Amino acid sequence: MAKPIVACVVGTRPDTIKTAPVVLELQKYRDVCEPMLIATGQHREMLDQALHAFGIRPDVDLDIMRVGQTLSEVTSRALDGLERTFKERKPDFLLAQGDTATTFVASLAAFYHRIPFGHIEAGLRTPTIDDPFPEEFYRRATALVSGQHYPPTHWAKENLIREGHPTESVFVTGNTGIDAVLRIAEQVPQDWLPDHQGRVFLVTTHRRENWGEPQKRIAQACRILVDRYEDAVMVVAMHRNPIVRETLESVLGGHPRVRLIEPPEYARFVKLIQRATLILTDSGGVQEEAPAFGIPVLVLRETTERPEGVERGNAKLVGTDKDLIVQEAIRLMEDPAAYEAMSKSASPYGDGLAAPRIRFLALGALGVETPEVPMWES
Ligand code: UDP
Repeated sequence: MAKPIVACVVGTRPDTIKTAPVVLELQKYRDVCEPMLIATGQHREMLDQALHAFGIRPDVDLDIMRVGQTLSEVTSRALDGLERTFKERKPDFLLAQGDTATTFVASLAAFYHRIPFGHIEAGLRTPTIDDPFPEEFYRRATALVSGQHYPPTHWAKENLIREGHPTESVFVTGNTGIDAVLRIAEQVPQDWLPDHQGRVFLVTTHRRENWGEPQKRIAQACRILVDRYEDAVMVVAMHRNPIVRETLESVLGGHPRVRLIEPPEYARFVKLIQRATLILTDSGGVQEEAPAFGIPVLVLRETTERPEGVERGNAKLVGTDKDLIVQEAIRLMEDPAAYEAMSKSASPYGDGLAAPRIRFLALGALGVETPEVPMWES
């Protein structure tokens, strides 16, 4: 009998990083399944960088990215590409992660083709469908067609149950992003700022809802902070998006202790997280990774679909108000007890075994028995 094809679909940096552990896990079970990796190429360079970090290659590359692409174009090109792929080789099970356009389109294509779908990092929610835009819509819509949901935490599970998804389809696995970050942190030697003894502020900001004025206020706050602490170096890992870069360059460019750098590849970025004194970010993934190393995070957003880090005291929501960002950062830098309280190493998002749990569940849905890993007690 032919082995079932289990396909993972990726398209951007975060969904690739968080899907990679599942791809690698499925590859260990090639005797009972045929793993397949489909890349839409939604974000070309950052996707390739992320794949490279894990030494994996797509079996199918739809290469859809175009300069200045709109969300509608990404959606239609990805759907068209998946349609062609499924006509050639229809997977028996499809997996995609999180809240990207690629993930939403993969779930829609799976629905059209009646392919069972498993959603990695299911159940994250904010109260409003357009914040974060468009991700909140993508993850809610993806849940509608998922046969199996893999929420990282119990909070995410409860969100799904509240929406009416059957309990028996919802499995708390932990976040595969923790599998990824622990794996990479082990592999790579420390290689950042070897001669710098002082503080390191690590900054990333790319969210669409922060483009323009909010991002400008973030950059201004960063400038005030780096000016205040003369021993500090501020590393700003810039997203490839030109709108984001323009704002950051106009406010922070030319400062002798601000390094506006191209997005480092994942392994180097993880080393930067570990080296950071304080992280200021609007990234979802970074909010999850930093607590694993006990690095305090100021979240540059008004809402978060990741309340667990805030509840455990590893992260604090500061939004995009310049004065509030500065005030919170100063408090942490100048009140050792406040800093200490936010630096406890914790794992609110996973224990590093999410991928084997997902492998067990997805293959189990196809009637293929593989070793079980007890579900995660978050
Ligand atoms: N990341 C990276 N290089 C960077 C910035 C982030 O490898 O310059 C990683 C980060 O460690 C995390 C993921 O990319 O795993 C987060 O991606 P992003 O912030 O773009 O998306 P989000 O998590 O907000 O959806």
